[in-house]
Amino acid sequence: MSDSDKVKCACPDCVCRVNPNEAIQRDGRPYCGEACANGHSEGNGCGHKNCGCHG
Ligand SMILES: [Zn+2]
Ligand SMILES: [Zn+2]
Ligand SMILES: [Zn+2]
Repeated sequence: MSDSDKVKCACPDCVCRVNPNEAIQRDGRPYCGEACANGHSEGNGCGHKNCGCHG
């Protein structure tokens, strides 16, 4: 699996890239984790290194 096979998390502020097969699908878009998929409704970041997204 090369990096080009990954897709960017659909969260606008998120810099994470995820394997489409492992991404969390929400409304047909891939997210790197529950926090992003939920639109950071609880104000938590995705928790991945070097990523400061909070929605
Ligand atoms: Zn992220
Ligand atoms: Zn994300
Ligand atoms: Zn995010």
